[in-house]
Amino acid sequence: MTRRPPWLGSLPVAAPRRAAAAPVRLVNPTGLGLASERARANMVDSLRRIGVRDPQVLEAMVQVPRHLFVEPALASRAYEDVALPIGHGQTISKPSTVARMIEMVAAPLSPAARAGAQVLEIGTGCGYQAAVLARVFGQAVSVERLRGLHEQARGNLRALRLSNLRLVFGDGNLGVPQAAPFDAIVVAAAGDAIPDALLEQMKIGARLIAPIGTTRQALHLVERVDREQWQLTVLDAVRFVPLRSGTS
Ligand code: SAH
Repeated sequence: MTRRPPWLGSLPVAAPRRAAAAPVRLVNPTGLGLASERARANMVDSLRRIGVRDPQVLEAMVQVPRHLFVEPALASRAYEDVALPIGHGQTISKPSTVARMIEMVAAPLSPAARAGAQVLEIGTGCGYQAAVLARVFGQAVSVERLRGLHEQARGNLRALRLSNLRLVFGDGNLGVPQAAPFDAIVVAAAGDAIPDALLEQMKIGARLIAPIGTTRQALHLVERVDREQWQLTVLDAVRFVPLRSGTS
């Protein structure tokens, strides 16, 4: 007997169908069905309880199957509010952090404006946050400096068929000049300062969110007020992997 993955809970699962005349099409390409959907709905309820309000962010997190982005051995913990290892010494950010960061940068944009807006993510990692971003913004670009993770994210994201998400292999400190300017930028790794290239690649009125610091880190929210001015707000303490230079 194959072991039931823990997220299946006690839900009855139909026996696999015998080969029919026509191939059976899976409704859910992830193949995990109802129980993982229930786990995800519970996760999103917890996000609501801690104050995440943005309906589009919450809906995106109902849709994106986080268990597909972590190692199979950790999949049972995919819907807990924890950061988990994704290999290469990196981690997937915890759901509450993903939700808060996206909510912060998307806040000034109406749903209609979001549909026409482009977001940049620095630090694709396993690709989870990139998938959520691509469900909130019309266009999403995500950069990763580790070739192995860039490829891993590509594999993880294939089944989701997000045609509005572009993955770039490169050093995110440089931004993505060929796709700039951006309506929003989310940095998923902590540096000592916000790279100038990212500040330059913001549209006027755009928001950027980034963890800053080494031993102590805090989320920094930046809004570009005009061509020469950016306004900074320091938010909560956080814990992210470091923002490094170059590619590897
Ligand atoms: N966004 C991910 C979190 C990834 S962890 C999620 O959905 O959970 C942060 C990632 O940033 C790591 O994969 C790390 O390799 C990457 N990173 C660090 N410095 C970078 C840089 N300069 N450019 C691009 N990616 C970088």
